[in-house]
Amino acid sequence: MTTFSKPMVMTERQRRFRETYRANISPFYNGLLHVSVMYAVGVSLLVYCINQLDQATWAWMMVLPVALAGNFGEWAMHKYVMHRHIDVFALRAIYDRHTRQHHQYFTDTDYTIDSVKEFRIVFFPWRVLTVLGLGGGAVALVCSYAFGANAGYIAYMTVIGHYVLYETFHFCCHIQENAFVRNMPFINTIRRHHAAHHNLGIMMHKNMNLTFPLADWFMGTSDVKRSLLGTLFNGFDEKHVDPALKPLIEKFRDSQVQQDSATLDGPLLNAQERAALGGV
Ligand SMILES: [Zn+2]
Ligand SMILES: [Zn+2]
Repeated sequence: MTTFSKPMVMTERQRRFRETYRANISPFYNGLLHVSVMYAVGVSLLVYCINQLDQATWAWMMVLPVALAGNFGEWAMHKYVMHRHIDVFALRAIYDRHTRQHHQYFTDTDYTIDSVKEFRIVFFPWRVLTVLGLGGGAVALVCSYAFGANAGYIAYMTVIGHYVLYETFHFCCHIQENAFVRNMPFINTIRRHHAAHHNLGIMMHKNMNLTFPLADWFMGTSDVKRSLLGTLFNGFDEKHVDPALKPLIEKFRDSQVQQDSATLDGPLLNAQERAALGGV
């Protein structure tokens, strides 16, 4: 059983990349430690903030604008930083790690991991949580000056909660198929949505959300053409995939095409294929 109706196939190109990547993981890397620290810090921050709240009532309304901004922020970061080569130190490192490593390690024909060691290629490094912790702190400070301390703590919890959700959802995209990822609403949607994003033909342009595909729906970058509710609750359904994208998706599942036309920086596309992706 797989997310897509087709069986998993690892192409030669992907197998070679995985082999080299795995061989270069430091022997000191510990996947469980990596993930435990991330969750321990994330959950501690959430618990700390909730304990600071003092009769927060209307302040909970802060969740809505901050989560909405977070959803579009996640989309924009993915589209304009993780998939755009900008030759500035930290931005280049993010691009390298995502487009040139994560997207070579996983494709839409084999997007799962087999070992804890591979957490290295799935979860962000700790410094992302540090940057987000500080950035979220700045947002929270502004909110607390404007609307009071409760609003500040709730805004911070929304930022950190979003990050923990992002990592968890992304993890659920790359583990082996099971009943939970197949049946859990939202998780099943993002698993298919993200696995489709890993297609080497459409990866630079489609399916940029990693939590709820809200910004993708709004910006027209979802591979499925459905209503908002249909998109959010799409699950594994492949019926609504944009017919204009289907030939491109199919083409880049082929081993020889990957060999000839997929580069570390994305696919080589013709004018018709670029038009199908929205003229980009
Ligand atoms: Zn991924
Ligand atoms: Zn990506």
